[in-house]
Amino acid sequence: MKWKGRRRSSHVEDRRGQQVTGSSSSRAGAGLLLGLFMRAGGKTKILIVVGALVAIFVFKINPQTLLQFASSGGSAPQVSQVSEAPNDEMRAYLETIKADNEDVWAKIFQADGKVYKPSKMVIYHDKTPIPGGLADSRMGPFYMPANETIYIDPHFFNELSSKFGAQGDFAQAYVVAHEVGHHVQNLLGYSDYVHQQRGKVSEVEYNKLSVRLELQADFLAGVFAHHADRQFKEFLEQGDISEAMQCAHAIGDDTLQKSAGNKVVPDSFTHGTSEQRARWFELGYKTGDLEYGDTFSIGYSQL
Ligand SMILES: [Zn+2]
Repeated sequence: MKWKGRRRSSHVEDRRGQQVTGSSSSRAGAGLLLGLFMRAGGKTKILIVVGALVAIFVFKINPQTLLQFASSGGSAPQVSQVSEAPNDEMRAYLETIKADNEDVWAKIFQADGKVYKPSKMVIYHDKTPIPGGLADSRMGPFYMPANETIYIDPHFFNELSSKFGAQGDFAQAYVVAHEVGHHVQNLLGYSDYVHQQRGKVSEVEYNKLSVRLELQADFLAGVFAHHADRQFKEFLEQGDISEAMQCAHAIGDDTLQKSAGNKVVPDSFTHGTSEQRARWFELGYKTGDLEYGDTFSIGYSQL
């Protein structure tokens, strides 16, 4: 993709020069995270569960370790500014792709008579405070509906290419657009709907709602690609869409479970299969039309 020279978002905070102490080991980090889980509101809980699943399946952290520290809590983190955040290409890239998302969604909302309120984005390294606790880079990028903020440690992109073979700047743009997709879902009320079902339905049913939400975020990332390509001059380049689809494919639940050496258990899926993730992204890209993205009203086996 071509990205240089466009507007850069002012809704991005770069915290990479900050260091979090008071939770010296990664184990304490996990402890804080789970301590946070105990106190968290419903929406935050969902995100922490997603984070824990990523920790277990993607980064192969022993669930025992996570549980062991669930009750131990941790000392309050101290944040200190140890250096200037590097004013580097990564920041320029993330601010630009964030602005692209803001401009695309503002136009889509406007066409529907609505006003789009942009999310915030925090770039961090390793750990950073989130309302009530700590984000840990091992959680992968995530969106917090409670404060409408995307958290991303750019090291995840290295992991994406080394562990999952998903390379290229458009694979990265897909990751950002997926998280912005969660913000769009929050604005449209889908996140609230899923949140309200928690505790009312079985865990298996709840996982299915999570899959619906995640596939819709993939669809919305595709919708972004569709419109960005029309809104900005020379946005997509040859191979970009397949980069995004390969990335969506690489992080499907079945592929992740297999590569972690585990049995594929469809009832435990929270994001959808590789095939589904790539297909919903592609549908969003081809149609560019929210009408086609209602992953909640079609039968689960039709997803
Ligand atoms: Zn997601």
